[in-house]
Amino acid sequence: MINVTKTFLPPKEEYEAILNRAWDAGWITNRGLLVKELEEKLKSYLEVPNLLATTNGTLPIQIALKALGISGEVITTPFSYVATTSCIVWEGCTPVFVDIHPEFLTIDESRIEDAITEKTSAILATHVFGNPCNVEAIEEIAVRHGLKVIYDAAHAFGVNYKGTSLFNYGDVSTCSFHATKVFHTGEGGAIICSDPDLMKTIFYHHNFGHDGQERYFGLGINAKMSELQAAMGLAMMPYMNDIFAERKRVVDYYNAYLTSENIQKLRIREGTDWNSSYYPIILESEENLNQLLLGLKEQDIYPRRYFYPGLNSMPYLTEESMKVSDSISSRILCLPLYDSLSTEELETIAKIVNQTLC
Ligand SMILES: *Cc1c(COP(=O)(O)O)cnc(C)c1O
Repeated sequence: MINVTKTFLPPKEEYEAILNRAWDAGWITNRGLLVKELEEKLKSYLEVPNLLATTNGTLPIQIALKALGISGEVITTPFSYVATTSCIVWEGCTPVFVDIHPEFLTIDESRIEDAITEKTSAILATHVFGNPCNVEAIEEIAVRHGLKVIYDAAHAFGVNYKGTSLFNYGDVSTCSFHATKVFHTGEGGAIICSDPDLMKTIFYHHNFGHDGQERYFGLGINAKMSELQAAMGLAMMPYMNDIFAERKRVVDYYNAYLTSENIQKLRIREGTDWNSSYYPIILESEENLNQLLLGLKEQDIYPRRYFYPGLNSMPYLTEESMKVSDSISSRILCLPLYDSLSTEELETIAKIVNQTLC
């Protein structure tokens, strides 16, 4: 069976050797030595000034909204994983969707200003599939209207844009270290923010508001990463450069061998050093998509419909159509992409795709 992704697992002995350090210390959570070491290693690997490891990639979005004091309306994308929208609703705010760019698939910055009202307080956009939003245009709009910018950068681990980590754009960036993501800790995530004062608030928020054992800074929740998660992250780190190289090999293969003219491939924004995190293909119709799904299933190959349905159709919202996003969402498929995908497997996938869509 070939799935859309396959979790990279480091050699068990290496994971255990790191875990042994937690055993020796008799300390498995509450910011032990492994979490702190992982944070330091990630900061230098990614070249970001501040990074806080968290228990998943969803709580960071909620904490970012909380720490920035966001209320009222939040401008966001309909084309992302459900967490992007659910966090806005969970924090008592209203998501206001802005359609996406037809080739980059990120929020269409040219439509943002039309959606701004006096209730708007933030823009929460996703660097979907690791492809950067138009961060310069968004920053300019945000400055002009006094809005905060949060990036759901769950897909953006290792992406550089114009010479710096993509995580360095916006007021806050959040990442996911879920087992399906490029870099993972089983479950896990991070918050990245260059403002040290804001980072302090975020830090308190992620640990119940504790300021020492008996004092409280303010409201908080529990988003702490455990030592068991951090051990996985530390065991992954030495393999990341190889993982990126292998993923690029798969992407290069698809780029070269998916020759059908009936496929639209992802356009990566210029200036991006991409992380080969996903390989979406956009087909001409949902009918073609279903046909392809069937053909692949016969060979035990399971791509995923990232992202379908669009977030504007969530049952807890009043549905509102988004022309571009709705259309793409019904026709997009992410092909299998992971480090150990063999050339033989790639040949099989490409053959089925080309034959079905010829
Ligand atoms: C995976 C993902 C999340 C959620 O991350 P978790 O670690 O699973 O909580 C949020 N946003 C996007 C775009 C994602 O793909």
